[in-house]
Amino acid sequence: LKQNQDAIIYKLNEESLAFFKLNLRSNEAKPAVKYLHSRDITNEDILFFEIGYLPKTKSLVEHLISKGYNISDIVDAGLGTYNEEHQKLYDIFVDRILFPIRNENKELIGFSGRIIETNSDRPKYLNTKETRVFSKRKIAYNFSEAIRAARIKKEIIVLEGYMDVISLHKNGIDNAIALMGTALSQYHVNLFKTIKGTVKMFLDGDEPGIKGNIEASQTLILNNQKVLIVNNPTNNDPDELIKQGRKSELEKMVVEALNPLQYIISKRWPKVDSKDFNSVEEFMKEICSFVLKCNNNILYETSVEELEKVTGLSKTAIISFYKKISLKQN
Ligand code: ATP
Ligand code: MN
Ligand code: MN
Ligand code: MN
Repeated sequence: LKQNQDAIIYKLNEESLAFFKLNLRSNEAKPAVKYLHSRDITNEDILFFEIGYLPKTKSLVEHLISKGYNISDIVDAGLGTYNEEHQKLYDIFVDRILFPIRNENKELIGFSGRIIETNSDRPKYLNTKETRVFSKRKIAYNFSEAIRAARIKKEIIVLEGYMDVISLHKNGIDNAIALMGTALSQYHVNLFKTIKGTVKMFLDGDEPGIKGNIEASQTLILNNQKVLIVNNPTNNDPDELIKQGRKSELEKMVVEALNPLQYIISKRWPKVDSKDFNSVEEFMKEICSFVLKCNNNILYETSVEELEKVTGLSKTAIISFYKKISLKQN
């Protein structure tokens, strides 16, 4: 019964995707296509990533009803919302470019819709709400495609946005997926285990991206997964770097990815005022709590060596700092 209900959602989603793709070919979609081209997304990319569109004048829910689907299934799939007062089914995705999101088995679990206008008061992205098959913690955009290349290269690259995946794909990097956010969950860990290789974290260059890289690497280390982090020295995301013509710089970053300890130190130490005791203490706190949470002896030993080199503190001082922190944490 459970599988049956899931199957109805997949079918409704496929029907919707066909409608979105058809509408991207209509006259009304010209601004949407123009927007995609302005982001260097070609017609070939549109086909490969199955990108679609829904113009203001079209209703998906009306289309689905006309195909014989029932209201409660449409609502359960997250494709429409029912207003009791008006006794009417309303569209959720309105005037957005639509990107299908598939799971590891290629089943169509949901969509993400992007607006094309700038300076809008509408949210830039709208994703399918939580449904029986769509859960925000369980998205690995492009995984079912990337797995082939990832197995061959023994490496999977983890990005933040699907725009980044599309951008790298067309630039020859085809082993990348997107979390569609910065949170890496146990679901992702389990998927990555099937690759038997390294996970390279490459979230956006801003502070949320840096924090996401650090937290994700912690989760991965705890799960005995080999992990490196791409040291992006800019505030930009991978797609922006490509757009700025910095492709070879990006490729170099990916090849020279750091181990997580080196990454945190290189992100944080340059901001420390080594003459200010509080500033050094903040730095030590962040590094040491990271290492303790990873619960890995080799990482711990290495960190003592590294911290001695970087800060100039003695090993004894570093170890007693660790003791102080671990007492507070437990
Ligand atoms: P773009 O380049 O089109 O501006 P992006 O990929 O750089 O998009 P980010 O703002 O970095 O987008 O966000 C990364 C990911 O997080 C997006 O791919 C999207 O899935 C998700 N996201 C961002 N904002 C929202 C939102 N308001 N609601 C839901 N998901 C969002
Ligand atoms: Mn971001
Ligand atoms: Mn981004
Ligand atoms: Mn971007």
